Amino acid sequence: MAFSSSICRASCIHSALALDAKPANNTNANNRNKISLSQCPHFSLIARSPFYRRGFVSVERKKELSRFHVSSSVKAILLDQSKENVSVPKGDMWSVHKFGGTCVGNVERIRNVAEVIVKDGSEGKLVVVSAMSKVTDMMYDLIYRAQSRDDSYASALDAVLEKHRVTAIDLFDGDDLATFLSCLHNDVNDLKAMLRAIYIAGHATESFTDFVVGHGELWSAQMLSYVVKKSGLDCKWMDTRDVLVVNPTSSNQVDPDFPESEKRLNEWFSQNPSETVIATGFIASTPQNIPTTLKRDGSDFSAAIMGALLQARQVTIWTDVDGVYSADPRKVSEAVILRTLSYQEAWEMSYFGANVLHPRTIIPVMRYDIPIAIRNIFNLSAPGTMICRPSLNESEDDQKLDSPVKGFATIDNLALINVEGTGMAGVPGTASNIFGAVKDVGANVIMISQASSEHSVCFAVPEKEVEAVAQALQSRFRQALNAGRLSQVAVIPKCSILAAVGQKMASTPGVSATLFNALAKANINVRAIAQGCSEYNITVVVKREDCIRALRAVHSRFYLSETTVAMGIIGPGLIGGTLLDQLRDQAAVLKEEFNIDLRVMGITGSRTMLLSDKGIDLSKWREIMKQKGEVADIEKFTQHVHGNHFIPNTALVDCTADTNIARYYYDWLRKGIHVITPNKKANSGPLDMYLKLRGLQRQSYTHYFYEATVGAGLPIINTLQGLLETGDKILRIEGIFSGTLSYIFNNFSGKRAFSEVVAEAKQAGYTEPDPRDDLAGTDVARKVIILARESGLKLELADIPVESLVPEPLRAAASAEEFMKQLPRFDQGLAHKRQEAEEAGDVLRYVGVVDVVRKEGRVELRRYKTDHPFSQLSGADNIIAFTTTRYKEQPLIIRGPGAGAQVTAGGVFSDILRLASYLGAPS
Ligand code: ADP
Ligand code: ASP
Ligand code: MG
Repeated sequence: MAFSSSICRASCIHSALALDAKPANNTNANNRNKISLSQCPHFSLIARSPFYRRGFVSVERKKELSRFHVSSSVKAILLDQSKENVSVPKGDMWSVHKFGGTCVGNVERIRNVAEVIVKDGSEGKLVVVSAMSKVTDMMYDLIYRAQSRDDSYASALDAVLEKHRVTAIDLFDGDDLATFLSCLHNDVNDLKAMLRAIYIAGHATESFTDFVVGHGELWSAQMLSYVVKKSGLDCKWMDTRDVLVVNPTSSNQVDPDFPESEKRLNEWFSQNPSETVIATGFIASTPQNIPTTLKRDGSDFSAAIMGALLQARQVTIWTDVDGVYSADPRKVSEAVILRTLSYQEAWEMSYFGANVLHPRTIIPVMRYDIPIAIRNIFNLSAPGTMICRPSLNESEDDQKLDSPVKGFATIDNLALINVEGTGMAGVPGTASNIFGAVKDVGANVIMISQASSEHSVCFAVPEKEVEAVAQALQSRFRQALNAGRLSQVAVIPKCSILAAVGQKMASTPGVSATLFNALAKANINVRAIAQGCSEYNITVVVKREDCIRALRAVHSRFYLSETTVAMGIIGPGLIGGTLLDQLRDQAAVLKEEFNIDLRVMGITGSRTMLLSDKGIDLSKWREIMKQKGEVADIEKFTQHVHGNHFIPNTALVDCTADTNIARYYYDWLRKGIHVITPNKKANSGPLDMYLKLRGLQRQSYTHYFYEATVGAGLPIINTLQGLLETGDKILRIEGIFSGTLSYIFNNFSGKRAFSEVVAEAKQAGYTEPDPRDDLAGTDVARKVIILARESGLKLELADIPVESLVPEPLRAAASAEEFMKQLPRFDQGLAHKRQEAEEAGDVLRYVGVVDVVRKEGRVELRRYKTDHPFSQLSGADNIIAFTTTRYKEQPLIIRGPGAGAQVTAGGVFSDILRLASYLGAPS
């Protein structure tokens, strides 16, 4: 079966010919913009093909055609003259449209497209159309099934037929429907025969495949043309295999043959004069008239070639998104629409994976400076993206395009190959040898990077080609490998490319620094880097699993607020809840004034958690949590906050006092999650775990802040770190670290018994529910150990002697109530101590001490002179004195409220802001 004869065209209309010879004149293809369609004789012709055309444009057919004359109500031309002399007018009168598969995905959409075509007031309209959405995939699937000898290809083909039959029945009727259905059935019968042949052979050649898969476009173009006609606009449909001629290349691409295509276009118009043409996308012919395709997603390319052949005013690519986004909107939901792109930028974006545009779309239109508009068929009010030569007047561009990077794109499923060895340096021809081997296996090199030492060449190829490439290299360089001139040909699988694109990058210093900084901060390891001399793109290779995070990190660095942080709040109790309320009150100001965008993506308690993809509405998080809370699961929580959205920076805020949660910190930091907490358990837990945690923190760009573990919101840790970092030497830290015990001793003045003061503190809410938790001193001991370790002492909690204020016999008391009841029995001892102190002019204070010189710490009741700063305290204030080499005579003292939900949450909040500023927020 010769497949070239199996296609039935819609132009198979047997209509009468009225012949009236008149040579064409006045047309001048080079005289762009000068000739209007109405001036041109072709466009007032009403011509009908004189015969039932089957197969491709053959020499025979051309001869045959040339014998006929076509008629016109106004003018006519003699075809064989026109063939040589007349070309279709070119220039601004033409507007070219391309409608993607989703635009013609169903009946309603096809009608919609027809409406857009009708409304376009251009003199000449050439509309390139893709197959209905999914149809090309279905067609490829037919091939796959047939060559796998799976006879379900027949029923799958019936499904394709049915899809088009049902659509056509809904769209038009009468003769049009009959003609279309008859064509459709003929095509399907032919396809069945062809697929049967493939099934028997168990193999499909490329041209068989191309022939089969191109049918989606043949059908959609015919259907659309009937609908446009029904809307009252005369139009013709064009099987672009009659017009577009392309030469296959070795790299699974095709190169248009413009002169030949132009010739055939002129011929086509001679035969089918029309002001509105609906043309098939995707398909073309080889110079030998074998059907071929422009490869996947090639309809954009078809439209661009048509635009160039007609030197059209504009090519509009209609799709399902508002234009070209700064990154793939499926991966980065905060991507923004780019109003304009230069040709180079659009090319780079599409080459590096922005599949909104086929990469080869740009070159043909660029030649004639034809702008490409990307528009959304589903949102006609959106202005779309204009791809054109950059205007000199860029300031008109009202979008946020100060950023030198216009957009980002990614390519997945790549592998890196690294050819390395000392014998490569200075040896001419090494690169050519390497890439010669790559070419021999027909692999596509997407990116190359060579260090200037010439010791290694590293390049990326599609993963499916890497094995063949590696083998080819091994064999080509066997001798060099054996001799040790080359040390290895290494394959690094599972990689992705991330490209940053922007023409202004060329003249802006610091772009790559910002880019790499963003990647480093998101804890992403860069495998290879390339920057073309044009500086229009910077390409980095990352692990595939890191790719989306990398994309979001760099995108948010250039497009989102300087510092967008996804936060997970663990423990929405008193402190956590207060923090959430503080965040709620402050979020808008932070965003507007400081460009800090804090988004709470999850809140988890011990039983329930609330997750959100966009950020929880903090004005009603309590209600939402009640309604939509799910069973708490800390692993799932972490995964959600860290991995499931577009924000590159993640911070988990642990507002619990839970040892189990603290155990996760190491793992979180390792994953690049910043940790902020008032929970003392990690820093006062086992020393080895603490050292591991801090070691990790120091090595990475991941931050661990815990200011509120000591003195709530008071800047104690920060001050200590500041002293140490600036070279001061800490000698001693001494302080009242417990708000509760501060309150108790500030009020234990002799007028009341100790137990009475404790009861009063409990009443006022200053103590834990069981006051023994305060009086035992362990909490103070934890603060001491935290400060001791911060000062460089390697102490365990058990190394800190703690003077407990809980009388020995009451330590085992069954309940807090029982304890409180029994406590007055033991008032005597403390009353005595207090009395003694008073007589010596002293007061009692419960303090923690870090003696750095002696490398020890302790928690005890101490006496201080009444003029000592510790004696002047009131309420529940904390006070901490740092004695250092610099502050030796007079210690550095920090004093203020050191307990309570507001100040503790405030301390955590200030750590969050510190994180934001470390991540790049303005200070
Ligand atoms: P069509 O069938 O209309 O040709 P495509 O699926 O080929 O549509 O291209 C449009 C799609 O490209 C969009 O739906 C979007 O998901 C995807 N896309 C990827 N990167 C980008 C980007 N940077 N800007 C816009 N869309 C993009
Ligand atoms: N229909 C073809 C494809 O899906 C061409 C296109 O839509 O651009 O690849
Ligand atoms: Mg496309």
